[in-house]
Amino acid sequence: MYEKRKVVLVGTGLVGMSMAYSIVNSGGIDELALIDLNQEKAVGEAMDLNHGLPYVKKGMSIKAGGYEECKDADIVVITAGAIQKPGETRLDLTATDTKIIKSCTESIMKSGFDGILVIASNPIDLMTYVAQKVSGLPKHRVIGTGTMLDTARLRYLISEYLNVSSKNVHAYILGEHGDSSFVPWTHAYIGCKSLLELLEEKGKDLSDLHDIYYQVQQAAYEIINRKNSTYYGIGVSLNRLIHAILDDEHVILPVSAYQNNEYGQEGLYIGTPALVTREGVKEVVKLKLNDVDQGKFDHSCETLKQIIDEIINPLL
Ligand code: NAD
Repeated sequence: MYEKRKVVLVGTGLVGMSMAYSIVNSGGIDELALIDLNQEKAVGEAMDLNHGLPYVKKGMSIKAGGYEECKDADIVVITAGAIQKPGETRLDLTATDTKIIKSCTESIMKSGFDGILVIASNPIDLMTYVAQKVSGLPKHRVIGTGTMLDTARLRYLISEYLNVSSKNVHAYILGEHGDSSFVPWTHAYIGCKSLLELLEEKGKDLSDLHDIYYQVQQAAYEIINRKNSTYYGIGVSLNRLIHAILDDEHVILPVSAYQNNEYGQEGLYIGTPALVTREGVKEVVKLKLNDVDQGKFDHSCETLKQIIDEIINPLL
């Protein structure tokens, strides 16, 4: 029997609607329901998207609704979040967003939802932790976008630098989606060739890699300075993740996955390569990190764990 594929989006802001627009253009989903605190906005967004349907590959049902829509959804994506107000610190935002993600997740679960929960709201690794704790869903069925966007930026920049398709750039960013992320360069490949070997062969300066990573790290700030926020890149990344799940792709993506000591850390979500299937994260892909990279990973985890203990857990 044909089974319809349903996605619910909670948070119809710039990120959520960039994902929705990407879905409409790629197709492959039968039903998309939009939920927002601002219900009129969700209604307007559904109307606007519906008006594009005659010109896309395949039609689909798009509507605004309430949390009851989550009951029969395959995937619910949370992109709801607060905007940082002047004078507000990152920690203030963590507390505000924890309350938002907690309340959205409670409403999602009240509907009887039993699918896969995808989180894109920042700080992603922490908000994925909140969503899992509050939902009680198995840990592999709660996934954060992790370093998918950072990794896409890295692949794009390396492809430009080497003039090779980004599809052949197999390099991953690990760690927190934030300033403490890092690239384990010894595990980066161009097609089947080690990136470090290739640079040596071409007589390129290894410090170029630091410049590339610096550009990745600064990308969000550079975009925000020019247009206030970033949304297309993450919108496409979310659509990619949704298809990886619904199509049972068994594809390796750098998502925020629950750690079970694969990298010597546990009790938190953080960006690592993981095998994504219809069941969610089937396994975290282990890499043998050198001492420097392991130190960076541990530092990234300690930063997150401290915030979990001091700010998040008291609110759950
Ligand atoms: P936005 O302000 O445009 O949209 C946020 C939406 O959430 C608004 O429509 C708002 O009404 C809604 N909302 C707020 N509280 C809600 C609640 N309790 N229930 C339902 N809806 C609620 O913001 P944006 O630019 O779309 O960003 C959304 C989130 O995505 C932010 O946390 C942002 O930091 C994050 N983000 C993540 C990445 C990534 O790589 N994962 C990239 C960019 C932005």
